[in-house]
Amino acid sequence: MSDVAVSQEINISKIREEFPVLHQNVNGKPLAYFDNAATSQKPQRVIAALNEYYKGYNANIHRGIHTLAEKATKAYEATRATVKNFINANEVEEIIFTKGTTDGINLVASSYGRNFIYEGDEIILSGLEHHSNIVPWQLLAQERKASTKIIPVKSDGTLDLTVFNEILSEKTKLVAVNHASNSMGTINPIKEIIDKAHQFGAKVLIDGAQASAHLEIDVQKLNCDFYAISAHKVYGPTGTGALYGKRELLEAMTPYQGGGEMIKDVSFDQTTYNDIPYKFEAGTPNIADVIAFKEALDFVSETGKKAMAAYENSLLDYATKEIQKIDGVKLYGTANHKVSVLSFLIEGVHPFDIGQMLDARGVAVRTGHHCTQPLMDHFGIEGTVRASFAVYNTKEEIDRMIEGLHRIVKFMK
Ligand code: PMP
Repeated sequence: MSDVAVSQEINISKIREEFPVLHQNVNGKPLAYFDNAATSQKPQRVIAALNEYYKGYNANIHRGIHTLAEKATKAYEATRATVKNFINANEVEEIIFTKGTTDGINLVASSYGRNFIYEGDEIILSGLEHHSNIVPWQLLAQERKASTKIIPVKSDGTLDLTVFNEILSEKTKLVAVNHASNSMGTINPIKEIIDKAHQFGAKVLIDGAQASAHLEIDVQKLNCDFYAISAHKVYGPTGTGALYGKRELLEAMTPYQGGGEMIKDVSFDQTTYNDIPYKFEAGTPNIADVIAFKEALDFVSETGKKAMAAYENSLLDYATKEIQKIDGVKLYGTANHKVSVLSFLIEGVHPFDIGQMLDARGVAVRTGHHCTQPLMDHFGIEGTVRASFAVYNTKEEIDRMIEGLHRIVKFMK
């Protein structure tokens, strides 16, 4: 499908109207926001949901029997059902609200890890991981006297699965990899990874932070054991997200945070825990943002994820083609299957300078290691410039970035 057809189908200018933040000048130039892998912008319906909750029915959930509490509880639980459908989980009880992907991974490391990882066990990660999917496992490995093994990255930013097959063994208790890389855009063959890990009895956690806005997610088909997402990467608010876990695993895990909500009965002698998912939701949660998260997921579902991804891919293809015309450009992440992330360096120009000079032209990109220092070390670089595209971006905005880069190269050399 050509991008024109896709853009007509999903009507980009109508979509842009739904995002108030896009309609402003930055440094005197119209904003071109290409930092979507860090966080995406929010449609008006998400902002309105936050407003409506605080203006109309702010109340604590679950415990109250008054009308506002019931309304807030209903809205909060409606998001859980929407997340369940969004990732095709089997049951709403398998969806735990978290602060985001980092929080979800820490929950699994702290709770599943402390219950089921022992001395001598191995945890397999990949060289493409975000620090959020490295450090929690290092902390766990240290505590449990377990160790981590790494699937290496090839020069195009894909994983070397031959090595994965070699390091996978009966000692492997958990494999934690991302669905898509935030630094290189690589879409990982997670179904293959999950199936192989299961042959050795290992459990698999998928970091879905970068996948949720771009890729169809079906946790039942994937047969993953855990899947973590952040609302703010999929047009929702910051500070919330969801963790999927298979019922039997969640039930077998002890909670890692104690407090209100997560209990059935408390006495000084003995405490019994609540059922899943509440067992893992101690304390008053981020009610407003969870409620608004539903609007973000509905926005994606109504717009159509497939059409969105096709349009974003057309932007990526166009930007990839155009950027290669610039003198001294080197791309990082050239896999065949990518989400819309374009990472690059220009010979002789520091990435921070590129970031600053583009910002002066209203073009927002990210520069640095993108919380993937081991990956940057692997390529022998400190960081890259990263432009990541969302459904509201346009070719015209990409043209402005490319024109800016041509001028920067001229100016710096
Ligand atoms: N994993 C990946 C691949 C990410 O891109 C990010 C965010 N950059 C995270 C994990 C962490 O997400 P959050 O900060 O929302 O918890």
